[in-house]
Amino acid sequence: MFFMHSKVNPIYFRNLSTYDRILHFISTRQGGVSLNGQSSLNLSFSQETDAEKVLENRKRLAGKAGFDLSCLTLAQQQHTCNVALVTPREKGSGAFSNTGRLVETDAMITRTPGICLMVMTADCVPVLLFDPVENVIAAIHAGWRGTVKRIVSETLSAMHKNFGCRPENILAGIGPSIGVCCYEVGTEVVTEAQEVFDHPRDFLPEYEGKPHFDLRSANRYILEKEGVLSGHIETIDLCTSCLPELFFSHRGQKANTGRMGAGIMLKE
Ligand SMILES: [Zn+2]
Repeated sequence: MFFMHSKVNPIYFRNLSTYDRILHFISTRQGGVSLNGQSSLNLSFSQETDAEKVLENRKRLAGKAGFDLSCLTLAQQQHTCNVALVTPREKGSGAFSNTGRLVETDAMITRTPGICLMVMTADCVPVLLFDPVENVIAAIHAGWRGTVKRIVSETLSAMHKNFGCRPENILAGIGPSIGVCCYEVGTEVVTEAQEVFDHPRDFLPEYEGKPHFDLRSANRYILEKEGVLSGHIETIDLCTSCLPELFFSHRGQKANTGRMGAGIMLKE
């Protein structure tokens, strides 16, 4: 499979691509050097023992997407709803090793050019935000916990508090994640989601009597409720579990998998 897909070919959002001031990307699993479950463009040191392979994969992605590896800034991603304001001091956190990643953080915002905020996923939802009026960007990791903790709301609120961003100006991209087709959930998830949403059944359909959680729609709903315009939100409706040649899937590969990256940067 590795030889068939020897090129790094990120996916891009159409709405974010209209602005030359930023770069962004969502990587697939194709075009890297990792093997087995991590084949091939695994971006996470936590998922394999050979750090050199991860570094090579990150270099390939950086080369393709057009940023320097030293700009890459990463969070620990522990399913919190904590948002970090990234300043030049944090630039490059976690770029070359796991040490230094922003602790207890699942979303990052910045107005500093030259900092590539990247979240890593393998089923969870990556969300990228850009406010072209205030020139502020955000990268968000939203699994089911982040979704029900409304991490996208927390991020919008941090953008407003720190930079005066208004939701109606913000563009949002919701990336590939496990789809409602493949995301059967248990009672814990159903109970928590029911407490958060006005119409939880919209996001928790039952297939053959079993509840499934529609993470992408739930995050879109929260963004719209916060005032982000529907026409400013672009969703890439691809399921990571249904497309094993294109994406890593934690559930689809029973945890023996790698991580994709969704990144955004204000150009210098
Ligand atoms: Zn699916």
